Amino acid sequence: MIDSHMHAVDGHTGAYSDYEEISKFVSCSAKADEWDAQMTIDDPRLIKSYGVHPWYAEQWTLESKARLHEILRNDPNAHVGEIGLDTKRGQVLGQMMVFMQQMDIAEYYGRVASIHDIGCEKMVLEAVAARKMKGVILHSYGSDSYVKPFSEQECYFSISPRILSRSDIRVKRLMDAIPMDRLLLETDSPNYGGDFSGMHSFAERLASITGTSAEDLIAASEKNLGRIFE
Ligand SMILES: [Zn+2]
Repeated sequence: MIDSHMHAVDGHTGAYSDYEEISKFVSCSAKADEWDAQMTIDDPRLIKSYGVHPWYAEQWTLESKARLHEILRNDPNAHVGEIGLDTKRGQVLGQMMVFMQQMDIAEYYGRVASIHDIGCEKMVLEAVAARKMKGVILHSYGSDSYVKPFSEQECYFSISPRILSRSDIRVKRLMDAIPMDRLLLETDSPNYGGDFSGMHSFAERLASITGTSAEDLIAASEKNLGRIFE
């Protein structure tokens, strides 16, 4: 079982009921001042990603840019995230430059980018299409109309418990659109949203809506994460 998006610096060990059963976590950071703390977390299950989240875009400086380069240069297992665009908080125009520069860095070092996108699907799609990315994880994904073009760009769709605030019909429509070999399951721990208690129960809930099995969803998600980071 894997967790394709969480924040280890915001609360690590025992963050949810079946946390111990997770074999790989993609741990993201939101601000440059979290990077050192994440670096010191000693858990081989963590795939550490470093980035500046669009909510904190104004904290992206020449200094943080140089530091991100340094981290990726020194650690071949480090990746980039959480980066992105958000129409609901802050100014997209200001976020854009920060997002593009971090995408450039991920492309340059051949690392996976974990992307937060609220209402900016078209711009994110263009940013991915304009680069040769090693891998893209679309975190807390929710837009069924963009599944096809993002699939064509070989992006992965990471589903968070937040999706369960939607009606079952909408959840099923989204899940049906996502190819099984592109599906990921995340918790966004500790910011789960909804009534989340553990990865198993989350997968069971999704499976009951889509008419699949929790085991199949969990297995597909694990296999897909292995492929992105191989
Ligand atoms: Zn997050």
